Amino acid sequence: MRTAYLCDFDGTIAPSDIGAALFQRFAGSDRREAAAAFARWKADEIGSRELTEIECRCMDVSADEALAFSREHAIDADFAGFVRGVQSRGDLVMVVSEGYDFYVGDQLARADLSDLPWRANHARFEGRRLIPEFPWADPTCTRCGNCKAQYVREHRARGFRVVFVGDGLSDRCGARIADQVFARASLWDWCQERGVAARPFTGFRALAEAEAA
Ligand SMILES: [Mg+2]
Repeated sequence: MRTAYLCDFDGTIAPSDIGAALFQRFAGSDRREAAAAFARWKADEIGSRELTEIECRCMDVSADEALAFSREHAIDADFAGFVRGVQSRGDLVMVVSEGYDFYVGDQLARADLSDLPWRANHARFEGRRLIPEFPWADPTCTRCGNCKAQYVREHRARGFRVVFVGDGLSDRCGARIADQVFARASLWDWCQERGVAARPFTGFRALAEAEAA
C-alpha cells in the first residue's frame, strides 16, 4: 500500500511558525480581541478560521512587507531530502497548511519543491490590510479554514495509508483520523490528552531515517 505523508507547514516543515510570527510582528497595539480569541481557540471553543479572521483585523502590513518578513524564516533543511526519499519509494508528500499561500508557495519554491502539492489559505492584501480567504474550506467542517481531515479522507479514498505530521492545534482534525501521527509541541500534548496514538516528531532528518528503515 502506498503512503501519503500529509505535512503541516508552520512549526513543522518550517521549524518556526511563520504565520504566528507575522502576527506578532505586524499586529497593532490593541491585541485584546485577538488574545481572547487565541485562548478560545486553544480551548477548542472556536476554530482556526475564526481566529485567523480576528487576528487579521489587528494587522497592519503590506504584501511586500509580509513577504520580506517571511523570508527571514526558512524551512527544515532536511525536508527536501525527506521528500525525495519518499518519492523515490513511490510514496507521496502533500503540504497542508492553515497559514497563508504567499509564504508557503514562496518557501517551497525557494527549496526547489514547487512540484509538491500544497494547500493553504489565501492572503489578499488591500493596501495595508490582510484579508484572509479560504478557497479550500471544507463544507463539512465549520471550524477550520483549510480542514486537514479532508486530505486524509481524499488520500484514503485513493488507496493510500495516511501519515500525518504536525505540531499544532490546527492539526487536530487531520490527526484525529490519520492512520499514523507524528507530532510535537501542542499537537503532541493534545494527542496525549485525547488518547490519539502518536509518535514524537523531532524533525525531517529523523523522520526520513525512521521511514526509510
Ligand atoms: Mg503548525
